[in-house]
Amino acid sequence: MKCRACTKKAVIKLPSHNSAFCPECFDRFVLSQVGRAIDEHKMIAPDDHVLVAVSGGKDSLALWEILTRLGYKTTGFHLDLGIGDYSRESRGHVESFASRHQLPLVVESLREEVDGSVTDIARATRRPACSGCGLSKRYFFNRTALRTGASVLATGHNLDDEASRLFGNLLHWHDEYLAKNRPDLPAIEGLSKKVKPLVRLTEKEMASYAFLRKIPYVLKECPHSVDAKQLLYKKLLNEVEMASPGTKHAFLFGFLERIDRFYPDSETPDPEGAFLSPDGRCERCGEISWTPVCSFCRLKERVREELARNGEKEPRPT
Ligand code: SF4
Ligand code: ZN
Repeated sequence: MKCRACTKKAVIKLPSHNSAFCPECFDRFVLSQVGRAIDEHKMIAPDDHVLVAVSGGKDSLALWEILTRLGYKTTGFHLDLGIGDYSRESRGHVESFASRHQLPLVVESLREEVDGSVTDIARATRRPACSGCGLSKRYFFNRTALRTGASVLATGHNLDDEASRLFGNLLHWHDEYLAKNRPDLPAIEGLSKKVKPLVRLTEKEMASYAFLRKIPYVLKECPHSVDAKQLLYKKLLNEVEMASPGTKHAFLFGFLERIDRFYPDSETPDPEGAFLSPDGRCERCGEISWTPVCSFCRLKERVREELARNGEKEPRPT
């Protein structure tokens, strides 16, 4: 198998692009796909300061590395979720990546802020762990972007993540989420601009990139990921992709071409269009909120109540 770009020996085959690449040309391919996503969706301007949300997984660490290689000013942000060995290992990879590349990093601990881990949140809210985890991440990401003065928040969601999210939202006709199923959301007062520069690259392409660039990342799966419906949607889409290469890309980008027609207000982060909170701020933490007390502060309250109900003064060790 020869590289389609230079005819050297190819190491990766990309049926969806009808291509195969050698390591050097694959590297150029990845950088050009990220550059194209950034340009097409006007994600990052040359003078932007980008806060990169890094979980310790391959996508977010590779994203941080790529944005640095492309010359953007970046700061990493890691939220320690307090999920036992998985979180310890994830944090270790993020911290060693930052020190190896001499990049600024902000780390915060969910346990210190909520008095509990993602597991405690799931117990208190009686909802799947991913639900409280997602809410907490959105809160911390936005707050840290504003505190660090970053103009853009970048996350490592890839094509598979975005296509499976779209698939799940379509299956249930979640209009409010479909309207936000885009790789770029603009800033408004109190909410940072959010972008997903890996949206043109698949999970497999990102794993190959991390391998070829020798980026160590956490191999353990989050113990809660077995519950994630997202995995089922990914599996189903991968089966379709195997039978018909390029379908995932056509599905997601076909939707993005039509999103403004389907959802004319999709770039407005507030789905209600009006604040229920008097000044648009949470009365407890001061962050942007559509209700008098924001959903994160309400979540903290529920965890505290649950701990008190069970006679636990301290969160349980993980
Ligand atoms: Fe959080 Fe769920 Fe992802 Fe685990 S699988 S890190 S609980 S969103
Ligand atoms: Zn709050």
